[in-house]
Amino acid sequence: MEDSKPKSLNFLEEIIQQNLASGQYSQGIFTRFPPEPNGYLHIGHAKSICLNFGLALKFGGKTNLRFDDTNPITEETEYVEAIKKDVSWLGFTWENELYASNYFEQLYQFAVDLIKKSLAYVDDSTAEQIAAQKGTPTSVGTESPYRNRTVDENLTLFKEMRDGIHADGAKVLRAKIDMAHANMHMRDPLMYRIRHVAHHRTGNNWCIYPMYDFAHGQSDSIEGITHSICTLEFDVHRPLYDWFIDKLSIFPTHQYEFARLNLSHTVMSKRKLLQLVNEKIVNGWDDPRMPTISGLRRRGYTAASIRNFCERIGVAKRDNLIDLSLLEFCIREDLNKSADRVMAVLDPVKLVITNYPEDQVEELAIENNPEDPESGSRSVPFSKDLYIERDDFMLDPPKKFFRLGPDLMVRLKGAYIIKCESFDLNEDGSVQTIYATHFPNSKSGSDTSEIHVKGTIHWVSIPHAVEAEIRSFDRLLIVEDASELGDDFMKFINPESIQIIEKAFVERSLRSATVNKAVQFIRKGYYCLDPDASPEKLVFNRTVTLKDTWAKEQNK
Ligand code: ATP
Ligand code: MG
Repeated sequence: MEDSKPKSLNFLEEIIQQNLASGQYSQGIFTRFPPEPNGYLHIGHAKSICLNFGLALKFGGKTNLRFDDTNPITEETEYVEAIKKDVSWLGFTWENELYASNYFEQLYQFAVDLIKKSLAYVDDSTAEQIAAQKGTPTSVGTESPYRNRTVDENLTLFKEMRDGIHADGAKVLRAKIDMAHANMHMRDPLMYRIRHVAHHRTGNNWCIYPMYDFAHGQSDSIEGITHSICTLEFDVHRPLYDWFIDKLSIFPTHQYEFARLNLSHTVMSKRKLLQLVNEKIVNGWDDPRMPTISGLRRRGYTAASIRNFCERIGVAKRDNLIDLSLLEFCIREDLNKSADRVMAVLDPVKLVITNYPEDQVEELAIENNPEDPESGSRSVPFSKDLYIERDDFMLDPPKKFFRLGPDLMVRLKGAYIIKCESFDLNEDGSVQTIYATHFPNSKSGSDTSEIHVKGTIHWVSIPHAVEAEIRSFDRLLIVEDASELGDDFMKFINPESIQIIEKAFVERSLRSATVNKAVQFIRKGYYCLDPDASPEKLVFNRTVTLKDTWAKEQNK
């Protein structure tokens, strides 16, 4: 996965390069990222963000952040704020913050224009009647009995719709195209519907709202968007997109489609993510198990790792499923370079160094990150009483167990070589305390003992240890590809997607750990402080394990 060879252009970059070469868009290209503020952004949106902002950066253009807020029922200001935070956090700066609702008056005038051109009409048919009129992909539709209303009548009725004279569903405005068109979207699609609902920005100013197909392309056009990039499912909408632009004779924006990101072992639709939140399968949109940008951030993912992931998966024209392990690879690669190595004992057992002076504390200088010479070192206290991991000690170890057991020797990370002398057991047979002696001349960095041991284990000094809760996460779904499951995905929730260790012990330096700055617990994985943490109680999230254990588990 080295990035040494020069990357070939993706199909959108090729198109843009050709546009520019032929002298088009000499003012620069213009893209937009158009989220509907009906939920938090997920990693699929990150792909769209990286693509839209990335193209503009690469070719000297600009990108708008436009909230596609044409459906007042599902949209909220909370989501607007969360989306802005996420886009900024990913590292991108938008040219303008815009709202489709800014254009409601303009869109209304566009609709009036089409009515005047006899290209739109008010229809009193019910939703069921309209659905029946549409026909099927293999049979032509039938024309609405209201299709031939006069321009004047349509203008009056459309104004009445706007003025709130008619009830929800009583009337709609439809484009007058072709009820026999091979593309179902061209069979007199809806342009406006009546909804007596307050909008999060326009309040009660409007009771008619434009449909996506009438709002999106026109918004692109108003903003002078040169490349309107969306996901593949919209390719069947493109003829309609072009039709409106053409009939209105407005700025000729163009729509291009790419394959959406599907990620294994999770769902990626705001509606389904909302269901997980509402049914309390997760603890909110930013639960570290969620594929949302806020969840990944809380989990310890860096913006760079997400951008890198989006770069690696590339831009395709065909849908595919990306394995979650690629995302994990990207964060591991990033944190390997940047995360300090620290010691945390997750399943502690007591170890007493019997020949170490009772009240002595040595401050050991331990390197922060061997991958980063600039990272320096920190002081870690060592004393007679330590915690080590329970599974670093075996009563009856097999031959190649290079850790601790009766009479075995091991190095304590950054400290001394020790030899196990004895141990106490609990009534249930588990180990209570291990007793060992240390070799005073074996100290790391000044070792003259000439004792060679194969293993090094981590530890925490008991009098200096800081208690912490550790949260480990696993796949949200036990099924790999949920994209075809529809609402059945709820049957495949992984019951063990979170595991909590209530009482682990971490080294003293982690008292000053900060949220979103991941560390490596050596031999365990990458972790970051959770916002739930308080000075009284540290809480760490496992960002990712050190190695890809999931793949191994699956092949057992
Ligand atoms: P969802 O089904 O999750 O609500 P959406 O497409 O309805 O997704 P929007 O807010 O309308 O969400 O999306 C904003 C932009 O992000 C759109 O251009 C959309 O095409 C793109 N997008 C959404 N999901 C993905 C995905 N999985 N991969 C790539 N781009 C995506
Ligand atoms: Mg949408």
